[in-house]
Amino acid sequence: MSTSSLGEFELIRRYFAEASTDASVALGIGDDCALLLPEPGEAMAVSIDTLVEGTHFLSGTPPAHLATRLLGASVSDLAAMGARPAWFTLALTVPDATEEWLEPFAVSLINTAKQLDIRLVGGDTTRGPLSLSAQVHGFVPVDKALKRRGAQVGDLICVTGTLGDSRGGLETLLKHDTESDQVRYLQQRFYAPTPRLQTGMALRGLATSCVDISDGVQADLGHLLENSAFGADLELSALPVSAQLEAYAGLEQARQWALSGGEDFELCFTLPAVERGVIQKLPEPVTVIGQISAEPGIRIDGQVASGSGGYDHFAKD
Ligand code: ADP
Ligand code: MG
Repeated sequence: MSTSSLGEFELIRRYFAEASTDASVALGIGDDCALLLPEPGEAMAVSIDTLVEGTHFLSGTPPAHLATRLLGASVSDLAAMGARPAWFTLALTVPDATEEWLEPFAVSLINTAKQLDIRLVGGDTTRGPLSLSAQVHGFVPVDKALKRRGAQVGDLICVTGTLGDSRGGLETLLKHDTESDQVRYLQQRFYAPTPRLQTGMALRGLATSCVDISDGVQADLGHLLENSAFGADLELSALPVSAQLEAYAGLEQARQWALSGGEDFELCFTLPAVERGVIQKLPEPVTVIGQISAEPGIRIDGQVASGSGGYDHFAKD
């Protein structure tokens, strides 16, 4: 420790130890391994996500925001499988494990974990260029998990929430926009994605395919169509954009970011057309943006969409 009198392990114990209490955790942080009691009869869904300074976030990002970003993005993968969150582990590489950095990070991480009903059960801490990984574990009945593959011709293409806000939030940071309600909303959407866990679980056995939107809906819809002979028809005006994004960027830019802006962490899923009635009963807002067609490729208002539309972190679009 260069700037702190506390040892690394003491700091971690202090900030993270109480985070791991739950009946499913027989032994949490502090031993060589955690001992966990999985649900019998369900599949364990496992996924890991990493954030690297300069690649996934701007340097100087407040640690509290890194915690919401990391956990939101990781848990979103559980939502996309229809899984219920259980546990996560955390690999932290920090240039300096100071209290000034660790405290706000840990407080934010533990609050976010509580909100998302997921327990921190262990991890690893090393010194080096700032990077953070979270491995999440959840449970889902194996025959009810939502997979990327399975969309059928005629299925409705649906998305949760609004799209493009996160890209708008990044823009406000890159442009150093002054604070306003709009700017705060968009930055909140960028820093603190909302994994659509309730919708994911409600879609078990209903959706024919599902993915979370991390590269823009056009690119991620492409993942649903991979290895299938089918295509998709989207309606640009159907893309849900927030009033804040439209006011900030104008409708045309907002729709472009809705299509290809990155890291919304909303769900994109397909639903048999006969199930249209369930949409309004889902726990979170859902919009139909198009339909699966027998013709390969993605068309937007009838025009073949160029490229993947995917968003490459800090590359200018
Ligand atoms: P080991 O040397 O056996 O890997 P460590 O000394 O790295 O053990 O970790 C001691 C304990 O602290 C372990 O239970 C580990 O899971 C926990 N731990 C270490 N780093 C973190 C972290 N970043 N987040 C949560 N728990 C951590
Ligand atoms: Mg270790």
